[in-house]
Amino acid sequence: MSSPAWHPESWKAAAEGPLLSYEGIGAGEVAAATARLRALPPLVTSWEVERLRGLLADAQAGRRFLLQGGDCAETLDGCTSGAIASKLKILLQMSLVLVQGLKRPVIRVGRIAGQYAKPRSSPTETRVVDGRSVTLPSYFGELYNGAEFTPEARRLDPGRMIRGHEHAAMTLNFVRALVDGGFADLHHPEYWDLSFLRQAGLAAPLRAEYERITANLGDGLRFMEAFGEATIQELSRVEFYTSHEALNLHYESALARQVPRREGVYGLSAHLLWIGERTRGLRGAHVEFARGLRNPVGVKVGPGADAEEIAAVVRRLDPAAEPGKVLLITRLGAGRAADVLPRLVRTVGPRPVLWVCDPMHGNGMVTAGGVKTRSFDAVRQELAETIEAHAAAGTRLGGVHFELTGEDVTECLGGAAGVTQEQLSTRYASVCDPRLNYQQSLELAFSLAHRLSAR
Ligand code: PEP
Ligand code: MN
Repeated sequence: MSSPAWHPESWKAAAEGPLLSYEGIGAGEVAAATARLRALPPLVTSWEVERLRGLLADAQAGRRFLLQGGDCAETLDGCTSGAIASKLKILLQMSLVLVQGLKRPVIRVGRIAGQYAKPRSSPTETRVVDGRSVTLPSYFGELYNGAEFTPEARRLDPGRMIRGHEHAAMTLNFVRALVDGGFADLHHPEYWDLSFLRQAGLAAPLRAEYERITANLGDGLRFMEAFGEATIQELSRVEFYTSHEALNLHYESALARQVPRREGVYGLSAHLLWIGERTRGLRGAHVEFARGLRNPVGVKVGPGADAEEIAAVVRRLDPAAEPGKVLLITRLGAGRAADVLPRLVRTVGPRPVLWVCDPMHGNGMVTAGGVKTRSFDAVRQELAETIEAHAAAGTRLGGVHFELTGEDVTECLGGAAGVTQEQLSTRYASVCDPRLNYQQSLELAFSLAHRLSAR
């Protein structure tokens, strides 16, 4: 396919428009917001983006493993010190379990500091209010509109892009301070475990296993060094990267920048951006935008994906076949990997992609009471099946993508604590998809570490 010149706003001329536009909103409002955004400092730097690309290239070669996770949808109200610290903690704890089990360094990437834009299946939502049926625009995440079911909150407001950027900056500032301050130092895992283990009422076997791992951590690191896998310094230095879905292209293109002394354009709203299952069309605005960035780009792949189209999207995003550029994030649902993955792997061929499994988005269900949930068993099953299907196809699972929180919520069913349908409503806090709670997340990390280390 011939490619007309790319620039940060060439997506506006793509054959298929973006999922959501500010139609009906004064053009002046959108222009004023994006002009302000263009003047504000970015969130991340080009050298961090390049560093992450190098790490992801290593993961493609089997030398590292990617752990990506966080909320389905961050909220501005959820930008609190407690919530940020507990999300960082659970991701660090999971990575520790994975490092120990896989004997490989883990790349930690949060769905954090900017995961504010949500694709929805329907553009509108209807509810009965005071006996009347009311239809309003769906909630598309804090970058677009508010969750409250009122015409004012649901109006698309370009000014929200500025507030989203500010909250992403506050979140990232705290994450960077915690990471730099030693909170995340692998030499001191005792700082980030015990109060947590108590608070979450962790099941005894999980607690015992986690305590064994932290106690043996020093030995484990020396063991890995002896194996020549990596140096202790490299294994124990904690780096943390950010990611979100590149859905709002007005926002993303205002933060796409050229930087001095470097070639190319960087999306500086996050280190890693991904394109969702609903917006990954070959001729669509989202692929057009992402193809010009230096950032690593993820593409979500659902069970109905056309393998040829996915292969074409990969070529379009990465014509030079550079390692560390494209992540294919499969989200197939339990019971589908053996059917779908072999053909996908064959069609994408020997191109250097990082295969990642998102075992969340193919396993959504709604209870009889109308609550959106997922079963822990289905999530664990999809992961196991994906690992097997890659092994059979001659490829390797290089990472995982989870929706999770460090809080003790009841949004997904099952796990060692056995969250039941009746309990779902007790602590259901997500404004969008159900997340694994603290205990379910740690349990999944153990299960993954066991499966991968057994291979
Ligand atoms: C998501 O990651 O929250 C999401 C909407 O995923 P997908 O595009 O895979 O459905
Ligand atoms: Mn989601």
